[in-house]
Amino acid sequence: MKQRLSILGSTGSIGVQTLDIVRENPEMFEVNSLVAGNNWELLAQQAIEFDADVVVIAAEDKYPLLKEALKEYPIKVYTGSDAICQVVRSSEVDVVVNALVGYAGLHPTVAAIEAGKKIALANKETLVVGGDLVMRMAAEKRVPILPIDSEHSAIFQCLVGEQSPVRRLIVTCSGGALRDLPASELKDVTPERALKHPQWSMGAKITIDSATLVNKGFEVIEAHWLFGMDAEQISVLIHPQSIVHSMVEFEDGAIKAQLGTPDMHMPISYALMFPRRALRPEERFDFLANPTLTFAEPDRVKYPALDIAYDCMRRGGTASCVMNGSNEVAVAAFLAGKCRFTDITASIEYALGRASFVEHPTLKDYELSNEESRALAAEYLKLK
Ligand code: NDP
Repeated sequence: MKQRLSILGSTGSIGVQTLDIVRENPEMFEVNSLVAGNNWELLAQQAIEFDADVVVIAAEDKYPLLKEALKEYPIKVYTGSDAICQVVRSSEVDVVVNALVGYAGLHPTVAAIEAGKKIALANKETLVVGGDLVMRMAAEKRVPILPIDSEHSAIFQCLVGEQSPVRRLIVTCSGGALRDLPASELKDVTPERALKHPQWSMGAKITIDSATLVNKGFEVIEAHWLFGMDAEQISVLIHPQSIVHSMVEFEDGAIKAQLGTPDMHMPISYALMFPRRALRPEERFDFLANPTLTFAEPDRVKYPALDIAYDCMRRGGTASCVMNGSNEVAVAAFLAGKCRFTDITASIEYALGRASFVEHPTLKDYELSNEESRALAAEYLKLK
């Protein structure tokens, strides 16, 4: 039987690559629904190519354009964020691929869990914001959450078949676009410069998060929730080549690593096909062309965001939600030329120092905390 997919964020970097996997494996997958934010033209093309039943465009002003573009096709067209939660709950959906960016991913993940859908999760902010609630709900509903993030996919692959306790997770980190820039020059970095990631081609927000190391901090939090490990059991190593995608150290001292070229098709297909693997004959790693793999300690003074994320993880409650909300506002402001690169981490620190804290948050508490942290970041950055 084919798996019927709902792909949230189909017009983004992960969404487009997910559709590549569907295109390569028509006997395994079919598309039920596609969801995008603004890009109605690409969404319409995708819906026609993949014969989707339903599409949702979050931006309400794009709805008439999308509706018009699809008027000759039997495709249902909806708009608004409530519609996203409705399509994931459909009885015609088996798997929800959540490749939305930011806080917007949390509610659809919760809706998918409530409806008992298997989830392939790229939207790490779901776990950063609400990992406690989401993992508890998933356990209660016995819903599998399969990671798409390459580091977590690597750890997941290393853990398959293991029954003994794990000593440590080692999350690798490319160092981002500004790895070799002196700390004193960070304040003058332009968005164009920070968007040039040396290894990965990704959406704008995660590329900036990689440059601040907020992304790595988020990945540590994501690993904490996905694999049930404490802060002390998760370390980060700079690995500029991005060949070792992450590692697991066991109690006997053995370390397992997952290696490969930096290409998200692999972790996406693994999440969709687990416990099987995709047939990708063209994918062959050449050790001799990559003879040097190096590792280093992250510079925690140049990149304070990493320690901020560890602190948020230890505090629990709404702390990481505040980090996420303030970061989203600051990254958008930086990309729009409204603040400096170094203001991103400063906004997070400002918000964390002032936001209210809820120790055992409900979904509503996360919503309020997200709004408060966004307002605090806007206040710090003097945005209107
Ligand atoms: P992109 O910015 O490329 O894509 C985001 C997608 O979400 C787009 O389809 C966008 O639509 C849609 N979207 C944005 N906001 C909304 C909204 N409010 N409602 C509905 N749709 C929305 O991001 P990426 O693909 O790079 O990243 C997606 C997630 O995956 C992030 O959480 C990221 O951290 C994670 N991730 C990404 C990796 C990568 O290689 N890209 C690697 C590992 C994790 P539109 O473009 O039409 O506006």
